[in-house]
Amino acid sequence: MKTILKINITVKEICEGFVYNELEGKGLFGLSGKLTIQPEYQRNYIYASDGGKREIAVIESVLKGYPIGLIYFNKVDEEKFEVLDGQQRITSLGRFVTDKFAIKDENGLEQYFTGMALDKQRKILGTKLLIYECEGTESEIKEWFKTINIVGIPLNNQELLNAVYSGPFVTLGKAEFSNSQNANIQKWSAYIKGSANRQHFWERALDWVSKGNIGDYMSRHRYDNNITEVKTYFNSVIDWVSSVFIDVENEMRGLEWGRLYETYHKEAYDPAKVSVKVQKLYGDPYVKNRKGIFEYILGGSTDTKLLNVRVFDEATKKSVYASQTKAAKAKGKSNCPDCAMGHDANKSKIWGFNEMEADHVSAWSKGGETTAKNCEMLCIRHNRAKGNR
Ligand SMILES: [Zn+2]
Repeated sequence: MKTILKINITVKEICEGFVYNELEGKGLFGLSGKLTIQPEYQRNYIYASDGGKREIAVIESVLKGYPIGLIYFNKVDEEKFEVLDGQQRITSLGRFVTDKFAIKDENGLEQYFTGMALDKQRKILGTKLLIYECEGTESEIKEWFKTINIVGIPLNNQELLNAVYSGPFVTLGKAEFSNSQNANIQKWSAYIKGSANRQHFWERALDWVSKGNIGDYMSRHRYDNNITEVKTYFNSVIDWVSSVFIDVENEMRGLEWGRLYETYHKEAYDPAKVSVKVQKLYGDPYVKNRKGIFEYILGGSTDTKLLNVRVFDEATKKSVYASQTKAAKAKGKSNCPDCAMGHDANKSKIWGFNEMEADHVSAWSKGGETTAKNCEMLCIRHNRAKGNR
């Protein structure tokens, strides 16, 4: 890979013909059209999020004469360049000089570029940037791109995969799933955590259709001119969840809906009955893990481990142990009711407190409460034999 360091390119030249696409959240061109700011393998512009703190910091650095770091261009042709690293900083500069956002002056007043004192405008436009122009094969450039971290915010996994497998497939995927203007995002956000800009919906869509093998799937479909399979599968999962569960609860966000769809979508559910069950479990103070409610219901309301049901506290267990043991001794029988009914040597055995476990007399899943009244101590062997109720 060949590199040349350029030290005389100014902010003014870079921002010549700057275009920012509000819809896609991308800085598009600069350097009088010779520079593509956001090639496909670059992520969306994210410096404007968090109230724009990062893009403001870029402008303040320039005004103070601080360096804003090295910028890398990929030379794709004579007079044609793409930004490899520095896209966020260049977009910040371009957006500022085109009055897309303001900074605060010494008196705390908002100032847009065209309203600034001329000497300050000149200072920004005349600032020279340190730019490396690189020339190499696509794979050299991509390999190298994979290893760098963009100043401040490292690329996340999906952003890296988008870079590595850039092509028509990724372009279409991002247009559908990484476009924060897509009206479906709100609906998807009920079930998926994250943001469109950081590729979280695109990542989930790929994860579901590929059953977790995103990289492999992307490499096989890299040159596809459609994303039909991804989209169809994704919509099937979302439609399924939203029709089985008519309630939208916070705990639904980020669950493994792809896996749950695969496991349960052939079962029939009555959404009205499901809703009653969901509400009942939400109102149950013994359910500690609300995230488990959905899979618990899908699986036929049997696997109480998913709910992490609250267990008996120590004081309750000790008092039940004491009264049970006292009564057993008086009858000359074991303090484990199950042992007492048996015919082996344990039928009169008095177990120690630490040799016993608490059990719900009336099973929790059938409405039994976690109170002393519904508590029974069993020897460990008999409690485990009863299994998970
Ligand atoms: Zn026993």
